[in-house]
Amino acid sequence: MRRKLAAGNWKMNGLKGQLAELDKLAAAHPSPEVDVLLCPPATLLAAAALQSPFSIGAQDCHANDAGAHTGDISAQMIKDAGGKAVIVGHSERREDHDEHSDIVRAKARAAQAAGLTAIVCMGESLLEREAQNTLDIIGGQLAGSIPDNATAENLVVAYEPIWAIGTGLVPSLAQIGEVHAFIRARLERRFGAGVGLGVRILYGGSVKPDNARDIFAVPNVDGALVGGASLKAADFSPIISALEAS
Ligand code: PEP
Repeated sequence: MRRKLAAGNWKMNGLKGQLAELDKLAAAHPSPEVDVLLCPPATLLAAAALQSPFSIGAQDCHANDAGAHTGDISAQMIKDAGGKAVIVGHSERREDHDEHSDIVRAKARAAQAAGLTAIVCMGESLLEREAQNTLDIIGGQLAGSIPDNATAENLVVAYEPIWAIGTGLVPSLAQIGEVHAFIRARLERRFGAGVGLGVRILYGGSVKPDNARDIFAVPNVDGALVGGASLKAADFSPIISALEAS
């Protein structure tokens, strides 16, 4: 059985005061029946890991362990700060920093080597969906972004249609189901049933308290990667509850 995962991506949001939201979330979910992961900005990572009963992760890492890479952080540094996971290949990084799948794969490999879970993101643009290229795009990103040594513990895949991130637009449940089934089949084909059926596949893109329940009922949706609605405990808490109830 795959344990469900509610992951929050705070992006470039949050000063120290934002950590109070973690306390509110912990009070609302003293013993959650699903895994809960929060990914604050790097400046809050160590403090969040000390303060929070939930797992804490980072939003990116460099592919190298150390060296002359001003402004970057390594997977080992994230681990050292108390992190358990790192998001790699988010569409905002693929677009803002021109990160292609080979870079994403190297980052995921570095994360796994450091003992972190790599949350590898992928998703199509609106143009690609309208041209009916979604599965080709996802197939290419899956093949290119995921290292060969994936296990059910060191890999989570997040399907995040670019056009649904931060827009309030959400694919139909059938569209989500089609892509998640496709990802599952590709994982099984590449890694065998043990790993392929064990890796969790998250949906991300405008998940909110009012649509979470329906999304979590879709087969092969093992949780969510949540951006905007993870910033406030009042919004993230009902999403966690919906996942617990699914
Ligand atoms: C994200 O950034 O991964 C995301 C899914 O954002 P939002 O929930 O705000 O669409």
